Formats: sequence, structure tokens, C-alpha cells
Amino acid sequence: MPMNLKPSFQPGRDLPPEVFRQAVAQADMAISITDPQATILYVNEAFSRVTGYSAAEAQGRNESILSNHTTPREVYADMWQALASGHSWSGRLLNRRKDGSQYLAELAITPVLDGEGRIAHYLGMHRDISELHRLVSQVRNQKALIESVVDGAPVALALLDETGRVVLDNQEYKKLLTDLGVAEPAHLLLETALPGWRSQLLGRAAGALPPRELRIDRPGGALPRWFSCSALPIATLDEQADGFYETEPKHYLLLVASDVSALRQGQEKARLAALRSLMAEEEHAAALRESLSAALYRLEGPLNVMSSAIAMLKSREPAMSSALESALGEGRQHLEELRRLIPHDTQEAPAPVNINEVLRDVLDVCTGRLLANGITVTWQPTPTLPAILGRPM
Ligand code: FAD
Repeated sequence: MPMNLKPSFQPGRDLPPEVFRQAVAQADMAISITDPQATILYVNEAFSRVTGYSAAEAQGRNESILSNHTTPREVYADMWQALASGHSWSGRLLNRRKDGSQYLAELAITPVLDGEGRIAHYLGMHRDISELHRLVSQVRNQKALIESVVDGAPVALALLDETGRVVLDNQEYKKLLTDLGVAEPAHLLLETALPGWRSQLLGRAAGALPPRELRIDRPGGALPRWFSCSALPIATLDEQADGFYETEPKHYLLLVASDVSALRQGQEKARLAALRSLMAEEEHAAALRESLSAALYRLEGPLNVMSSAIAMLKSREPAMSSALESALGEGRQHLEELRRLIPHDTQEAPAPVNINEVLRDVLDVCTGRLLANGITVTWQPTPTLPAILGRPM
């Protein structure tokens, strides 16, 4: 019930005691006043609503009627120690209502001193925070659950804020720090998978990046690593007090990187084996081309001599010249057939080429030959390179 008092008093003057009485009686917080032994002398309406005890039922009894007898003794000891030395105390107690149901009380007790400075009363104010506690515990449990799931996930996860700082990561991501040897692997992966991610994130227009595969080359002859990366923009509301009325969300980018190196290394081995046999075939074809071209060149010499002889014999020995001419024709025909048999030099169509990949292929294929000639190659590749157009073979 709201107060209905005439404002007959003036600001700066003492309020009539009735104002205080009504304020306490109508306050929406459970209020009780006790004697120094915690015997209840007064309770307001909110106290009766929260505890189930009417004023008549509560008065004359100790506040311990509210105890559920599960609050640790140390809490009460701490409380009474503070109160006995004239200090206020606040804390949480597990209370029991008149009907036996329990609730968590957030309680503040203030000693009320008499004119001689002695504790005359205690003023207790409490509210039921069971629902708040349930929600806080739920959030805490969910957070712990999510953290353990995130930490145990077999993919690297990194959450970046609007400045690009990694504000949350997991064990797999931490492993990348040492594996890739860069200060912030998320930046390297994003630069490669989603160039311009910073401006997209700051512009708050970052759409979800579907999984994209990328290759990171490492120095010192270490095998390259392959990752399937995707990025997901996330917007959250500010948790700080000054963000209470703020409706503008905070923007984050979640990077998910799955290491697919084992799979790709298997594929790379198969590709290198195919490349080696293709090169062997190419070498064989080139040798064949060379020897057939040389043979054709040599065969053309006698035929040219025959052609000159025919020209000379044409008027003097027409029968002989015609026989030679048909032999020459046949010879040229066979020569042409032989020419058609020469394997063609195939030219690949230009395609995007990763120079790191080509260099690694060359080193892999030629290591034996290089070492046999006493050549060692120290290669320090840039982790990622843009593709260029070319014919890798
Ligand atoms: P108690 O017999 O009360 O003893 C617990 C410990 O406190 C013992 O170590 C004892 O020595 C000490 N102690 C008890 N009374 C005094 C005293 N007067 N001076 C110095 N030391 C003392 N308790 C609740 O559980 N829920 C409440 O909501 C609640 N509200 C309270 C509100 C007020 C204003 C006050 C003054 C106390 C309130 N209490 C409340 C405390 C309550 O009075 C009991 O101390 C408590 O419930 C433990 O009760 P108990 O019977 O288990 O133990």
C-alpha cells in the first residue's frame, strides 16, 4: 500500500516519525527489527510475504526460525562477530519459510545504537535471490561446460574482438602458436582465407565465411600444414554497467581452423608419385622425339640425293628416272609416316600456381640428384604466397 501522507513538512526539517514507520512498513524488501538477542520485535508486510510468517507469528521468536540449519556455522560466527563489534554485516543465508520451502536470502543487518552508543536493536533487511542465484549458477555452469567443450574440441578456435585481439581461444589454437611459430596464428590464417577481414569486421559487415582450405609453408624443411578455415561473425551486448542502456552490440569474429594436414599429406604423396611417373614418361618421350628427329634428318639426305639424280636422268634415262621417282615417292611417304609417330610436346593450360608448392615439388623430386652432387638447399619460404598464373610442369 503506498503512503498517503500530506507533505506538511519542509525540506531540511526533520520528517515526522510516521513517515519512517510507513516507509519501512511499505518497503518492498523484507525488514525486521530485533532486540540484541535477535528476538523479532517488528516485521513489515514484505517480510511476511517472503517468509510466510505473519507479524503475529514472527514477533517474540528468534530470527533463527528462518534458519534452514544448512548455512555453515562459520557464516553465523562471522556475522555475530561483526554485529557484536558494532559493524554492519551482509551475506547470503539459506533460509526456510514457514511452509518448509527453502530460499536463498541476501541479508544485510545493521546494529541500531541507543543514546549511549550501546546496541539496542538490529535492523535486518533481506530479499529472496533464489531465482537470481539459479540464473547466475546456470550461466556459470553453461560457461564451464562451453569452456570445456571448446577446450577439448579437435579444431582450433579463436574469438577476435573488433581490434583483432584474440579474447578467447582453446588448447588446439594454443598448439598452433608453437607449431606455426607466429605471434598470432589467427591473423595469418585470416589474412590468407579472408583477406580484408579487419575492415569487414570493423565495418560490421562480415558475413560467415564458408570453409576454405589453405596451405601454410614452414621453414627448415618442415612439411607444410593445411587448414580448413571458416569464420563466423558474432554480436553480443555489453556486460558492463555503462553498457546497460547501450543497444549497440559488440562485434566479434569466431575463427574455426581444422587441421587437414594428414589427409592432404597423403594426397600430396600420391600427387608426387604421379608427378614422378609423368616426368619419367615426359623424359622418355623427349628422348624418343630426339632420336626419331635425328633419324628423319639422316634419312632425308639420301632421298635428296635421289631427287637430284632423278632430275639429271629425266631426259637421258626416262625409264630409270620414273622407277627412281616412284621409289622416292614411297621413301617420302614412309618418312612422313615416321614423322607422324614422333610424340608431341604437350603444353599444359595456364592455371593458378603456388610457387611454394612448385619449389617444394622440385626439391622433393631432385633431392637425390642434388645431394649426389654435394648440393644442399636451405629454403625459408614465406608462410603463404598469392597464386600466380603459370604452367607448373
Ligand atoms: P545460534 O544459537 O543463533 O548460534 C549461532 C552462533 O551465533 C553461535 O556461535 C552463537 O554464539 C552466536 N550468537 C547467537 N546469538 C548471538 C548474539 N545475540 N550475540 C552474539 N553471538 C550470538 N539467521 C538466519 O538463518 N536467517 C535469517 O534470515 C536471519 N536473519 C537475522 C536478522 C537479524 C536482524 C539478526 C540479528 C539475526 C538474523 N539471523 C538470521 C541470525 C539468527 O539469529 C541465528 O543466529 C542463526 O539463524 C543461527 O541460529 P542457530 O539457532 O542455528 O544458532
